[in-house]
Amino acid sequence: MHFQQKKSHENLEQSQADRLLEIVKIKELKSKTELAKGLGVYLSAITNIRARGTVATPMALAAQAVFGVSAEWIINGKGPVMHERKLEDIASDLLLAIGENTEREGLRETPKRMCKAWKDFFVGYEQNPKEILNKVFEEVGGYDEIVLLKNIRVESHCEHHFVPIIGHAHVAYLPNKRVVGISKLARVVEAYSKRLQVQERLTQEIADCITEVLDPQGVAVVISSTHHCMTTRGVRMVGANMVTSSMSGAFRNSETRQELFQMINGDNL
Ligand SMILES: [Zn+2]
Repeated sequence: MHFQQKKSHENLEQSQADRLLEIVKIKELKSKTELAKGLGVYLSAITNIRARGTVATPMALAAQAVFGVSAEWIINGKGPVMHERKLEDIASDLLLAIGENTEREGLRETPKRMCKAWKDFFVGYEQNPKEILNKVFEEVGGYDEIVLLKNIRVESHCEHHFVPIIGHAHVAYLPNKRVVGISKLARVVEAYSKRLQVQERLTQEIADCITEVLDPQGVAVVISSTHHCMTTRGVRMVGANMVTSSMSGAFRNSETRQELFQMINGDNL
């Protein structure tokens, strides 16, 4: 038993070491000093691991400090490889590339702030929409009418131009025994929105997630939004909205669909 435990720790160290080597490749750490520094911390991390009998933390911290990757990635082999420090370099390069002076006072902290903003814009990559929705209630007291959450704010980014898509979504489903806390629908919209997207896929992903987890009689997702790549550049079609929808099950029936649009458009509700 003890032997097996030790063995599995060694395997874990090995896989973490492999990942470190991968980072060296990814980041093209050609400088000897950088590499030596990295290996030094790496070796002391291993010593620490052995001495303290813990596995992941020192290694992860070393990797985070030296190679600039997330501790989660080095421990589990998943999670964001890109670390803030790397993002900051990219942000700084971007400012230089558009002709700015990164040394001037107003811009000194800008790469850091850009990273923070990017992390917020793309927080969806760290969220699991199916998990969010999984907290379902089986008891619905016989309720079998449309459940609709209207006007959910959508803040996304176009994957073709890396600029905002801003709009709102209406999400509805017709329960089949299972219902979900209404705020969860908004969180599912957020989890898929806060990634690089095209609106068609965003609409479908939200619908598919609800279908899979709630297994309802029908799902409807309607998104209306403004794409900044269309309004602030190129054709500059200010005021143009893009509307997409995904209807399944009962919502393909014209009566149910009509009821849904009355609910969405009804001011008296
Ligand atoms: Zn675009």
